[in-house]
Amino acid sequence: MNRIIGSIGGSLKENVKKAKVMLLPYCAKPTWCDYRHTDDCGECGGCTVGDLYRMAYERGMIPITITSFEMLRDVLRWCGENGYTYIGHCCYEFYEKRHEIFKKAKEWGANGVLIDIIGTTCYDLGIEEEEKAYHGEFQVELDLYVEDSEKILSVKEKIGERNGKNKKEKPIPAEPLKDFIPEYYKIPKVVPGPEEDRTRLPIVKEKSKDIGFIRGKLVSWEEALEEAVDLTLSAERPTLIVGPLVLWSWNGESKKKAELIRRLKDLLPNLNVHILPDYRPKNKNFDPSREVDPPNPHLSILHGKHDLTLMIGVHCYRTDFVIRLLKKHTDTKIVTLCSLYGHPDADVSLSGTDPGRLKTFVERVRRELK
Ligand code: SF4
Repeated sequence: MNRIIGSIGGSLKENVKKAKVMLLPYCAKPTWCDYRHTDDCGECGGCTVGDLYRMAYERGMIPITITSFEMLRDVLRWCGENGYTYIGHCCYEFYEKRHEIFKKAKEWGANGVLIDIIGTTCYDLGIEEEEKAYHGEFQVELDLYVEDSEKILSVKEKIGERNGKNKKEKPIPAEPLKDFIPEYYKIPKVVPGPEEDRTRLPIVKEKSKDIGFIRGKLVSWEEALEEAVDLTLSAERPTLIVGPLVLWSWNGESKKKAELIRRLKDLLPNLNVHILPDYRPKNKNFDPSREVDPPNPHLSILHGKHDLTLMIGVHCYRTDFVIRLLKKHTDTKIVTLCSLYGHPDADVSLSGTDPGRLKTFVERVRRELK
């Protein structure tokens, strides 16, 4: 296919099939987009980067926007360390000038496929623009070949197509949390579930589930628990964001967590429960007193002037994004009850929050209230 710039370290088909990471260039995002210089995307439908994010998620891949050359190098090294194959999007000129980095990535263990992009690149505009692009400051907007990418990705299985299953089952709300779902909310056909591996860059080198973080400092799980309980009890207007991993009844774990959240709400009448049922933008058609708009999570927190935000059941990559936006736009303190390795950017983060640990958290709150 003529959109392919190259397949590095393996055949095209083999690399696409194995690809775990999708790299997108920031220069294909509109200059007005809040996400242009971040590694994420709100999938608002405003540009083709959102289409590629969706395609990646549908195939269980991790999409990452590359915002500078240094970031590209770090991400490729991370791919190598984890044995991940990537699909990247860049212009021919970039590949010609910087092909060494892709050779290096192969030595690190990261094979990949590069797909061309559309438009006037920084290389067409001279050395000054090229320099800006290197540092992530290029102002021109390029575009992606969406249809070609879809064809290229067609050799890759979509989540839910395994075992002959073409469709995911329609999500069912967790019984104890039904009251928190607004009456007008139309349950979508599919939502991101636990099978979608969207774990982001391993910012937490310490891959343990027995740890916690207090303002970025690695601490024991117990210490983090104490701090999280203190913050919860001292907050005047706490909000709990319940994400798709708990709001929907996937399995025994999500059901037990839903019951415990209900118990927490019964213990703390001032706790606002806001749902984040999936990650599609709501485009202002949402009630900020009950829901969270995925691209603008801060709107709900600002709306109720909430001083503490707890998060549970939100995929790790999205949790990082929510933390970033809450910090940028609000003064709220943030506690994450993460089922994986925790989030150092939160004020407090507990790792490995399974139903047993969530129960410990709820019980500790109950005890302290006495
Ligand atoms: S889809 Fe929307 S949020 Fe995502 S990069 Fe494009 S304009 Fe920005």
